[in-house]
Amino acid sequence: MAKIRNDWSRDEISGIFNSPILDLVYRAASVHRKYHEPREVQVCTLLSVKTGGCPEDCAYCPQAARYHTEVKIHKLLPVVEVIESARKAKESGSTRFCMGAAWREVRDNKDFDSVLEMVKGVNSLGMEVCCTLGMLTIEQARKLKEAGLYAYNHNLDTSEEFYGEIITTRNYEDRLNTLSHVRNAKISVCSGGIIGMGENMNDRIGMLHTLATLPKHPESVPVNALVPVEGTPLEDQEKVSVWEMIRMIATARIIMPGAIVRLSAGRVRMTMEEQALCFLAGANSIFSGDKLLTTPNPEESADKEMFQILNLKPRKAFKNAPEIPSLM
Ligand code: SF4
Repeated sequence: MAKIRNDWSRDEISGIFNSPILDLVYRAASVHRKYHEPREVQVCTLLSVKTGGCPEDCAYCPQAARYHTEVKIHKLLPVVEVIESARKAKESGSTRFCMGAAWREVRDNKDFDSVLEMVKGVNSLGMEVCCTLGMLTIEQARKLKEAGLYAYNHNLDTSEEFYGEIITTRNYEDRLNTLSHVRNAKISVCSGGIIGMGENMNDRIGMLHTLATLPKHPESVPVNALVPVEGTPLEDQEKVSVWEMIRMIATARIIMPGAIVRLSAGRVRMTMEEQALCFLAGANSIFSGDKLLTTPNPEESADKEMFQILNLKPRKAFKNAPEIPSLM
């Protein structure tokens, strides 16, 4: 197996990203087969445990309080309700359960204590527990780790250069600092981005370059296509073509060969054939359930049919994990 590299230059990544699409897919598929069981795809569930009313201004997000969208605001869900959702997700085949809260940052208060309880409860089901709660400190990261958190999601969203066009209430460095706290607390890192927000190809390459040159690659890289939501500044953005998604996925697979590359938002607008190409290009995870936080996602029955037709196998929890959290 080729050595995992963290010293990619932007030009090298650009050369891969811009190679002829069939060559790119072939190369990515070859790398994928060396590092992963190619038919295995992890099924994850993402639940919004606190929805809307967020003080941030992410231009793609219907949960930002300043945009007028149809998102139904709710405060933090009760712990038992969340654990019950995780149990149901496990029953229907998910091995990873991600809880998202529309917060700018984690605060040391009762809500955080409840999230720690949720983490403990989901961990005790034997699932990989992930959270996405905004920025956090190293102490908060350590508390989450102690509660049994397996992974933390914090997306870079886009390139450093384009970041200010999408979010003005925090900066790229804030993002990188949180990722480093997560890493230092020995929590698995999940970080990726969104395409179709008006960025150019150099921005996509720039974001991949930042991820692939972190001291350690994220274990999980979600690749999202924007799902424009009415009422947000990006409501009129055009749909990205599947080839653009494939280019992102294939490049991510080649430069971060050990990562789980997650085909995330935007799947609802893809055919099964298009998704199959994404799997061939190295995607090895999807989110199941009819909602991805607040945006639509394919029906569970359609995914089950896709697994059958494409002969995909669900990936087990904690596969290749260096450290499995003890069950509470
Ligand atoms: S993406 Fe997250 S931080 Fe940004 S507005 Fe939405 S909920 Fe808030």
